[in-house]
Amino acid sequence: ASLDAIQARDGAVQAFLQVTPELALAAADRIDAARAAGDALPPLAGVPFAIKDNMNLVGTRTTCASHMLEGYESVYTATCVQRMLDAGCVPVGKANMDEFAFGSSTESSAFHPTNNPWDVERIPGGSSGGSAASVAAGEVPLALGSDTGGSIRQPAALCGVVGMKPTYGAVSRYGVVAFGSSLDQVGPFGRTVEDVALAMNALVGAGRDPYDGTSQDCAVDFCEHLHDGVEGRRVGIIPAFMEAEGLTDEVRSAVEGAARALEAQGAKLVEVDLPHLDAAIAAYYVIGPAEAFSNLARFDGIRYGYQEPACPNLDTQSSRSRAHGFGAEAKRRQLLGAYLLSSGVYDKYYYAAQKARTLITADYAAAYEACDVILMPSSPRTAWKHGEISDPTQMYLSDLYTISINIAGNGGVSVPLGLGATSKLPVAAQLVGPAFKDRTLLTFAAALE
Ligand code: GLN
Repeated sequence: ASLDAIQARDGAVQAFLQVTPELALAAADRIDAARAAGDALPPLAGVPFAIKDNMNLVGTRTTCASHMLEGYESVYTATCVQRMLDAGCVPVGKANMDEFAFGSSTESSAFHPTNNPWDVERIPGGSSGGSAASVAAGEVPLALGSDTGGSIRQPAALCGVVGMKPTYGAVSRYGVVAFGSSLDQVGPFGRTVEDVALAMNALVGAGRDPYDGTSQDCAVDFCEHLHDGVEGRRVGIIPAFMEAEGLTDEVRSAVEGAARALEAQGAKLVEVDLPHLDAAIAAYYVIGPAEAFSNLARFDGIRYGYQEPACPNLDTQSSRSRAHGFGAEAKRRQLLGAYLLSSGVYDKYYYAAQKARTLITADYAAAYEACDVILMPSSPRTAWKHGEISDPTQMYLSDLYTISINIAGNGGVSVPLGLGATSKLPVAAQLVGPAFKDRTLLTFAAALE
């Protein structure tokens, strides 16, 4: 059914870079055989899922939507993908994304844009736009994305699905092509909070992954307290966030409506302040590019992917392969990172960004003394038209609500709140919690469904 839905809808949505019917049907056959043999079936037996194309799966290409990795065949399988397979999920294909996950609209894919299933003239958000759109289009019930500065939560918001960035360290990054190693986190998209909870069980249930030194054991049953309600719990609101420039009226009133809905169920609203939040976007656009520059140095035209032919020597081969393999945004980030890490400049920006990171993390820790979760928008606005935002700085500002959570490392979930009053496009709220309290976030998210 999933393959049929892709066949029918993906011409218009273009969520996938590669569809893998052979892998899907082989996995489905294995489950059928297990059932016929009377074996116990894993919890997500037969559930199709889409995989962001920066995650390795043997038998597929992993291109990061870049010419640099065009045709690159995965040589091993990422732990996050393997855990979904172990839970019985069936891989139907690799989802489109911004090139190397740099972006908020999926327009920087080197191959093709993805269209928002609610209005195909609009972007699905990004960078995990293909994953979000595949779920929103009903092509798959679950998808995996990665979130370095909002790339799960923002496209989930713009496509009207649930998207969760777990706490840094909850899900293994082994086998996921790195962008910013101290910020990257894998998480699920689903149509409902319960589906996301089931996927979280699959992703973290087996405990820590020895192949990722930052992975931690935080296995809990994410479904266990899903419907406990929010009676007596405290919801933090950051007034400055609700008045931020660029926040549209319809998103503000939807998030205010969500706050009232939680209040009506017995939660208490409290005001909290994150005094250093103003520095979050600037700090992110120093730390992110610096780490990206370091991580993407491995694409040297020799070890992986695109190799420029007929070069007179190795240096030229490397520089021309990089010049022609990477797209504009990937180059911009790497040039910025190289500059920021150069001597003299490093102290001024990278150091300052790390200090801001410490302060923002401390702000969150202080805020959680007064509340259990913080409620805020996921995205300041609904999905925009393809091509509408062409200035990179404007694009960076659209990450206002998502970035500080990657900086502090805690978890966040975007929950759909129906359609906006004026745009008639999906609007969403985001719930953000203390580190490793991701299950609590899902309880609050379920209360908003
Ligand atoms: N939009 C942000 C960026 O462009 C976040 C991307 C992400 O989370 N991968 O860096």
